[in-house]
Parts: sequence; C-alpha cells; structure tokens
Amino acid sequence: MIKTDVLILGGGLAGLSTAHHLNRLGSLSALVVETGPFVGGTAGTERHGEFLFDHTGHLLHLHDAYGKKFILSLLKGNWALHSRSSWIHSQGVATRYPFQANTHGLPWPSAEDCVAGFLKTVHDPRVLPKSPSFRDWCLATFGAGISRQFMFPYNEKLWRGPLSRLTTEWQGRFVPKPAPSEVLYGALMDQKKFFGYNADFRYPVRGGMQVLPDALAAGLKQGQVRTNCAARFVDLASKTAVVENLGEVQFERLVNTMPLVDFLDLCRPLSASVSVARLRLRYNTVYNLNLGVERPRMSEKHWIYFPEKKYPFYRVGYSSNFSPHLAPRGASSLYIEVSRRCDEKVDLRTLENQVLSGLRSCGILKSSDKLLAKVWMPIRCAYVVYDFARTPAVAAIFKHLGKIGVESIGRYGAWKYSFMEETILDGKRCAERLLGLSSQAEKTAQPELKALK
Ligand SMILES: Cc1cc2nc3c(=O)[nH]c(=O)nc-3n(C[C@H](O)[C@H](O)[C@H](O)COP(=O)(O)OP(=O)(O)OC[C@H]3O[C@@H](n4cnc5c(N)ncnc54)[C@H](O)[C@@H]3O)c2cc1C
Repeated sequence: MIKTDVLILGGGLAGLSTAHHLNRLGSLSALVVETGPFVGGTAGTERHGEFLFDHTGHLLHLHDAYGKKFILSLLKGNWALHSRSSWIHSQGVATRYPFQANTHGLPWPSAEDCVAGFLKTVHDPRVLPKSPSFRDWCLATFGAGISRQFMFPYNEKLWRGPLSRLTTEWQGRFVPKPAPSEVLYGALMDQKKFFGYNADFRYPVRGGMQVLPDALAAGLKQGQVRTNCAARFVDLASKTAVVENLGEVQFERLVNTMPLVDFLDLCRPLSASVSVARLRLRYNTVYNLNLGVERPRMSEKHWIYFPEKKYPFYRVGYSSNFSPHLAPRGASSLYIEVSRRCDEKVDLRTLENQVLSGLRSCGILKSSDKLLAKVWMPIRCAYVVYDFARTPAVAAIFKHLGKIGVESIGRYGAWKYSFMEETILDGKRCAERLLGLSSQAEKTAQPELKALK
C-alpha cells in the first residue's frame, strides 16, 4: 500500500499549487492524483490539429503581489499583456463592456431608459435587506432600465433560474459599479475608460494556458503527480483512498480539489447533516464549442456578451486574439459558451445548429466561412450556483470537514466563484495550514464559516 503524509485529489491549479508549496515550505510528503491524462483541469488546453483550445477564455488577472511574482516566474517571459476589448451585442449594435457604464450606441430611448432608472437609484435609493437577492440588488444598484436591458436577461441566461433565488455573495469583484457621472458620460459618448477587475490581462504567447499548470507540475518531485489515477473511494475513518491504477493509498491529511459534490459522493462515513447539505449544492455546466475558421483576424475584439434570448450563447470570444499561435496562419479561433443547469438534458447536435445559426445571424460567421475545426469541450461543473441554499449548506459541510482535518480548496473544492490566481493562492494557504505555518485567523479556509461564528 502507498503511504503519504498528504494525499491531494486533483491535478488542477489548486492541487499542483498545494504540492508545490508543501515541497517549498516544509518536509511533508505529498502525492497528487489526477483522473485525466494531463494536469491542468479547467485551466488546461487541448490540441486539435493546428489549433490550441482552452476551456473557453482563460486569462490571467493578477492582483496579489506574491501571486503575480509567482505566476510570472512560472511563465518565464512567455506572456503578453493585453488591454481588454470586451463588448455587448444587443438591439443589433455593439456597446462597450460594462453595459451599465456604456449605453452610448444603443437606440436613444433605450439609453435614456437606462440613465433615468440609474439616476432614480441615486435620488431615491431603495433600502435593501442584509442579504438581498441578486435581482433586488440589481434594481437597487443599477435601476430598472439597466436591469431589464442587460442584468436580468444576461444573468438569467448564465444562471438558468430566477435571479430572486440568487444571493449577491459572488458578484462583489465581478460586477463593476460605476459612479453616476460615469453612467451619464457613457450614455452621451463613447467612454473608453476601463472598469472592473479584468481591465487588462496577461496570456501566454505560446502553448495556451496549459503552460501554467505544466510549469507548476514540472517543478514537483518525480512521481509526485500521477495522471490517469482517479480517486474512486475515500474512507475518512481509516484515512485510506482507493485510486485507479494505484490501489489503496494511506494518508495522514487529505486535500480535495475536485468538485465538492463529487468528493462527498465518494467519501464514507459522512454525517447525516453533510449528506443533506450536499443535496442542496447546485452547479451549471458550460457547453463550450470551439471553432477554427479559415479567415485571418476575424475581429479586433476579445470577447462579446450576448444578453438576448434569440442567441443561445451568453458569450463568444476570439481566442486567436489572445495569442496568434493558438491558430494556424490565415485562420482564427473562437470559443462559444452556452450555460445549462446540471439537471438539464442537452442534445449537442441541436445545440450546435442553433449556435452556428446564431453566429451567422449576428454577423460573426459569414456564409462563405470554412470551418477548419469544430470541437465541443463541455465543463461539467463550471459555475457553482450561489442560491440561498448554498451558504448554510457549505457552512455545514466545512464545519464537518474541518473537524476531521480534511481540506477542500480551489474553485470547486471550496464551492465558490474564483479565478486562477486565487486558486493558486488557495493552494499556498492550504500548504501553510498543513505545515502549521498560518496565523490563527487563517486556520479556517472558509469565509462562510468565519461569518457564522
Ligand atoms: C467558463 C470558465 C471561464 C474561466 N475563465 C477564467 C479566466 O479567464 N481567468 C481566470 O483566472 N480564471 C478563469 N476561470 C476559473 C479557473 O478555471 C479556476 O479558478 C481554476 O482553473 C480552478 O482550478 P482548480 O484546481 O480549483 O479546479 P480544477 O481545474 O477543476 O481541478 C480539479 C481537478 O480534479 C480532477 N478530478 C476530478 N475528479 C477526480 C477524481 N475522482 N480523482 C482525481 N482527480 C479528479 C479534475 O480532472 C481536475 O483536473 C474560469 C472558469 C470557467 C468555468
């Protein structure tokens, strides 16, 4: 039987970063087991012919001093800085992102409706309860016009459910709130100011985003990452896991980075409260269609949001504008994102026809375009749904996992909405906790737990 101090489930950025920081900061042995044939998980890249496709757009937004230094050191100069060019397609025109600060270009009655509604929120503010729904928060923050024309239709498309059931916990960093002067200015003229957490981004020049997890894995000890090794069963009482192609693995500490729902499904024993809480967790699947098109530089844009129902997709991005090396000379590549609840059945052939016809009707594809590649790369557990059931469910689960010393981290292990830099930092903090190096305040990984105390 294999023995390790720390068993890490999942070789995405969270798992690899945990192993890296365990090696760097202490002397515990660690083993990463990954179900897929490659490391990287959601931040990986697939090669199809001469095209490299990420799992939709994966762009580096670096905000933390350590995170930035560490990630750039891994990329060894293989990156370029881009100024975001993101747009919204609605009412037959393209307006700049974010919609709430850039209604210039819309038919005037629509822009006027947005500005009037926004100014009403300034002069006659609505008092919100302590935990408002996302719907009420949109109305109170942006007003009726912006909510009706963008916030509601776009988010209903992404979340596939009533916005009155969603909390606002996920949107803090991700939904920019402009000042009244910016909303007014952006209605009257083309405002080129950048808003939001991702005004610029870095992207590898060569190799797609895969180069980041590959660089992390390359720095680990030989044999420390085992691919094609899915965890099949975890006995939390005897601290043993059954892993495909490895057999039984005995561990002292366990770090989970696979989706929390899947992890709980393979763990025994679990308390009744955890089993009930697990049933409350919801997620959405992103059906990601990647296209290779025989036409150079199809657009100057990076990505476009589509709030209107007539288009099946909520976002389309031009990946070859992140790096020309993602597509062969004379060609471009695109990713198209469609969201579905985890319980919705999808017929990919029908969806593909709807997507292609949507792309033609909005002018992205021309009837003369030759498709060189057409690859579906669905992300089964892509967006954790922040409904009102999630907060107490996650708190109950982490209270239990904390008691038995199990770490569950990363975007899906911690069951949250986050990004690559944060995921890498999650791994560092987890390693510090395991090595007893973290401060008392950081002993718990879950903000929800702290909030409950
Ligand atoms: C549509 C979309 C767009 C995104 N865009 C961006 C972006 O532009 N910028 C950004 O910074 N972030 C972006 N992100 C977020 C980013 O992908 C994540 O923060 C990060 O990749 C999460 O890494 P992780 O290690 O937590 O999870 P994962 O990458 O999911 O890693 C978990 C690993 O566990 C493995 N696994 C699953 N089951 C088992 C098992 N039974 N046994 C062993 N291994 C198992 C999986 O194969 C996977 O490799 C985006 C995410 C999505 C869904």
